[in-house]
Amino acid sequence: MPVGTHAAVRSQRREDLLESGAQVLLANTYHLLLRPGREIFEKFGGIHGFMNWPRSVLTDSGGFQIFSLPGSRTMREEGAEFRSYVDNQTVHLSPELSIATQKSIGADIMMVLDQCVPSTVEHSVAKDAMELTHRWAKRCLAARGDSSQALFGIVQGASYADLRVESARVITDLPFDGFAIGGLAVGETSAEREDCTAIVTDSLPADRPRYLMGVGTTRDLLEAVHRGVDMFDCILPTALAKQGLAFTSLGRRDLRRAAYRGVDAPLDPACVCYTCKTYSIAYLWHLQRVRETQGWQLLGLHNIHFYQDLMRRMRAHILAGTWAEFYRAQRDVLDARDSYGPPVTHVTKAQRRKLAERRGRYEVVARAGIGHIRDTRSGEIMHPVDDPAEEARSLYVGPARVVERTRSDDPAPLIIWDVGLGAAANAMATIAAVEALATTETAASGRATSDARPPRPLLLISFENDLDSLLLALRQIHLFPYLRHAAPHGIAKEHRWFGKKAAIEWRLMLGDFGALKFTAPPPEIIYFDPFSYKTDSALWSLAAFRELAQLCAASATELFTYTYSTSVRAAMLAAGFYVAKGAAAGPKAETTIALSPRAAAVAHGRELLGGEWLSKWRRSDARVPFGADPEDLSWQEAVSGHPQFRA
Ligand SMILES: [Zn+2]
Repeated sequence: MPVGTHAAVRSQRREDLLESGAQVLLANTYHLLLRPGREIFEKFGGIHGFMNWPRSVLTDSGGFQIFSLPGSRTMREEGAEFRSYVDNQTVHLSPELSIATQKSIGADIMMVLDQCVPSTVEHSVAKDAMELTHRWAKRCLAARGDSSQALFGIVQGASYADLRVESARVITDLPFDGFAIGGLAVGETSAEREDCTAIVTDSLPADRPRYLMGVGTTRDLLEAVHRGVDMFDCILPTALAKQGLAFTSLGRRDLRRAAYRGVDAPLDPACVCYTCKTYSIAYLWHLQRVRETQGWQLLGLHNIHFYQDLMRRMRAHILAGTWAEFYRAQRDVLDARDSYGPPVTHVTKAQRRKLAERRGRYEVVARAGIGHIRDTRSGEIMHPVDDPAEEARSLYVGPARVVERTRSDDPAPLIIWDVGLGAAANAMATIAAVEALATTETAASGRATSDARPPRPLLLISFENDLDSLLLALRQIHLFPYLRHAAPHGIAKEHRWFGKKAAIEWRLMLGDFGALKFTAPPPEIIYFDPFSYKTDSALWSLAAFRELAQLCAASATELFTYTYSTSVRAAMLAAGFYVAKGAAAGPKAETTIALSPRAAAVAHGRELLGGEWLSKWRRSDARVPFGADPEDLSWQEAVSGHPQFRA
């Protein structure tokens, strides 16, 4: 099923989707409930009328999306409660509302509301979530009533075999029209996913469809069909197309590779899609090169066609009794790495060195064998004094007590915002600390890792508007030894990386932090490490801190930053943060920690600024927060009257 989250498959026309042979589209209840809302679907006679789609539609229940926005939701017996990212209203999504919404959307196949947990949670947490999912499944069946729309049950149970078997037994005892395997494709290895799939499919009835949710690559589809799965949904065909990746009968092709320049051949000689019939690789390569959106659309069209065709071929081989041969032959082909053409190296060594030193507006400066990134426009150097890795530990990771916080058995991830990815020093110091903890705990608990208490999952979100500094550092990796890890390569290439040693998800949000912050789940910790106000003034303004304070109003958030500037501290106080002294770092005797009111209300052990700072501020030339309106003096009142000075 091509994924049309918002009632549209990214950049694809309905004619092309119909032509690909897709029989079902997936749409998402959670997103459609918020936008455009139920009444629009009711007005247009459901999603089929609204998007003029004549074939079937399956709607996800919203359970997975609530799970993937962990900071903003609570789970109760009644249902899930979360904040709308559209208007910040609280929404209570119960099994009954999920089904009512799916009825209004007019889905041909509806899904039950389930509670998704990370596949790494403790057995007891996974069991509770599974049992809640079972009770919700019964409520969804009751809510469906006599509707002719099909309803699928979802088997949960994280990666525990006993829970998966139990969940399959309970769910298949209920009169569902089909069965889904949920809670996979959330960070587990492909071997774990395949084992888990086989355990569940063994317990499912043979006469109903089996649907593996959110999976996967073409190789994942082959392996899951081998284990008895019938249906899939995945965003990869269109998401990877955007990055220039195509799935073909010869393996993957990466259209960003220079080897494809000028190649006069179809993308996939075995494919009959519009893209392959109409254009050469050379043209598709060129569209990629000039970032023409049509390139994305044409590769997406091919990828969707290839997925549909792969499913058709698998079905034909099963019916013809030739599955085993097909499976063996395709296993290595489908995932084959792109090795077309010779590696390109006509650049001389001297040219390469020069290229490596500068990229976009940044250059590398080496001091005593340690690399630093310099912004050539402002002349400012990131982490100018210390070893960047050391500063990351002493100013951010250590004081934020990241390791202590991940030791908790809270199943909700620890969310950290890393504002100003730069050359990833803070992010990598965080990952190194959490991985070191996971390794010692696994070693301490012996080989039976399933009994070991998994540390709390970590969701690290890095904000950056320009990847050049990271790409530059990766090219000069001998000067940035902390980057010798799969993670920064993953984040540079895919903008996302999942840890294998520990439950870590690292996401990159590329663009302006000022706008992107509204779309990310609220953090517990913020590393506020962009260039200073001289280079990046908007980020340090009173207005920016006011927006940030609003976003963190409902959470206990601590923000760490390297500056101790009076203007910045005044902006934070005027915005409603509590402000404390941060650890000394390098030549700085002090840095700054801002606490949301909720963080300030609990025992935090931070040293809040007191009366002495306030009198110094009153006399200071740097009293005015950056960007404060000179006419409006409300900030003055807010700082003087701040509750932290009332003690
Ligand atoms: Zn094609």
